[in-house]
Amino acid sequence: MTSEQSKKTYALKGIGVSPGVVIGKAYLFDPLDSQISFYKLKRASSIPKEIQRFKKALKESEKQLLEVRDKLKKSRVTEPLYIIDVHVLILKDKKFSNRTVKYISRLGINAEWAVRLTLDHYKQIFEGVGDAYIRDRISDIQYVVQRILRNLSGEKKEIVLEIGGEVIVIASDLSPADTAQMKMDKVIGFATDIGGRTSHTAIVSRAMELPAVAGLGNITHLVKTGDEVIVDGISGMVIVNPYPEMIKRYEEKKLHYAAADDVYMKYAKLPAVTTDNYLVQVGGNIEFVEEIPSAITHGAEYIGLYRTEFMYISRHDLPSEEDHFNNYLQVVSAKDLLWSTIRTFDLGGDKLAPDQKHVKELNPQMGLRAIRFCLKEVELFKTQLRAIWRAGAVGKVKILFPMISGIEEIREAKKLMEETRQELLAQGAKIAAKMEIGAMIEVPAAVEIADQLAQEVDFFSIGTNDLTQYALAIDRANERLTYLSEPLHPAILRMIKRVVDAAHHAHIRVAMCGEMAGDPLYALILLGLQLDELSMNHLAIPRIKRVIREASVKESKLLLEKALTFNTATEVRAYVQDYMTKRFPDEFQKEEDQALLTNNRKKPAGKINR
Ligand code: PEP
Ligand code: MG
Repeated sequence: MTSEQSKKTYALKGIGVSPGVVIGKAYLFDPLDSQISFYKLKRASSIPKEIQRFKKALKESEKQLLEVRDKLKKSRVTEPLYIIDVHVLILKDKKFSNRTVKYISRLGINAEWAVRLTLDHYKQIFEGVGDAYIRDRISDIQYVVQRILRNLSGEKKEIVLEIGGEVIVIASDLSPADTAQMKMDKVIGFATDIGGRTSHTAIVSRAMELPAVAGLGNITHLVKTGDEVIVDGISGMVIVNPYPEMIKRYEEKKLHYAAADDVYMKYAKLPAVTTDNYLVQVGGNIEFVEEIPSAITHGAEYIGLYRTEFMYISRHDLPSEEDHFNNYLQVVSAKDLLWSTIRTFDLGGDKLAPDQKHVKELNPQMGLRAIRFCLKEVELFKTQLRAIWRAGAVGKVKILFPMISGIEEIREAKKLMEETRQELLAQGAKIAAKMEIGAMIEVPAAVEIADQLAQEVDFFSIGTNDLTQYALAIDRANERLTYLSEPLHPAILRMIKRVVDAAHHAHIRVAMCGEMAGDPLYALILLGLQLDELSMNHLAIPRIKRVIREASVKESKLLLEKALTFNTATEVRAYVQDYMTKRFPDEFQKEEDQALLTNNRKKPAGKINR
């Protein structure tokens, strides 16, 4: 195992204080405290010299802050100016300096120690203040003290980021002067132990339009400089040393965020109804409960996919039934959601928590994962099922089984559901009276037997990420194969059509929760295919709703019909791209520019006439 592989993954919950998603290398901003020594002065005659040293550090700190202030004044970031003024006032405050001088002379201690005692004194006073805002202002004194300590130690005033390239700054907290002295062109985001929406890191990061999460507790103890980090300033999640699959998911989120601008937000709360009155229900996919508020603001009518396996990240043990229940409770208690689809663990293969019985598989994507793993680890599965039944008593829940490849699997899962239901009833637990059961259609075998599967479940949810992987034999994590991963491949379109037809023939609903659902380029194709529900990365919802509201099923069916006449994926893409660009020029022109900028979406194949 390489050291890269052995790094532990953590998912930390904080407060998103500046929106946006960023993925990059961590730079741990080392608090100076650990490098400071506190000692008693050897002779009383050293006291005046020590006081002089303190006063010099005070003057030096003031001079630096005024320099930073000037620098900021000339830059576009002017919001933190008033905070720096406060810091200068503290430096000039006679009570602050007299107290420190008194400690040096009466206790015969060095200036560093005396400054620390002054800070402790103010901390005590502030802790007793009832008003949270005023209580938090102790951080201003803390920043000033840090600066004085830095000057006492002769620390360089320019904070140099030691690793090359762009970095995400990880710190306990940062003062505006700290950030002003960083090479900000290298900083792409922030994550801090303390602070909230009004903390200085928050103010500065919003001013600089950099994603930031504060109030993470102990991120500085978990991250080392150079570690890979994801900062999601929308949901407040920070992921340390993410798995490749998570990086991919967040890269998509980043793209959606970059494309989601205020123009689209007016569509968020509108229904996705076509001009000929076909209503598509639009839901949000989540990995963490913290994403729910943002999903709702962006127009999610329900949660169409809760990827519960993310619960395992950064745990050393298995979640108990109560852990599950409390987590699901947060999902079902969210107001304004029609229902929540809880997908049972898509765990196993390379996604297993580190200290579980981990068997290294040669091909984990086709290994003991998802429903296969759950049916093998029955107790682990039943723990989750019990919690889902109980959550269903509080709010509307649907259950979704991943990676179904045969009828036996769905029957076995249903049997375990019934078993847990009976057990819970016998215990007198409050559970859902009924629960809709869904099968994910993401394995080609499930497409083939969709008519039979439809007899067993209440709904289908098509997972195009895996369906594309398995149908086209493309490892979804393999970057070198991205160019082949094509949801518009005629085979994929035909598969989706078969699944929809089988579902509708059996009078059950069919959803899509793979990434294809959240890309406006495919919206009309999916309308033509008559999907009932589309669940997606919630940042994509407003744009999808906009496209659907301006289209009709009639035209979408014609587009689909034509698309299905082409023999190659390249031809289908060229045709669909051309049609959509002409139909929604503002939308797709921007989209293409974005693709060229990010180089993340394949360039359209073939020549497109405009
Ligand atoms: C899918 O495979 O399309 C899907 C939605 O599930 P996941 O991405 O979690 O595998
Ligand atoms: Mg899947």
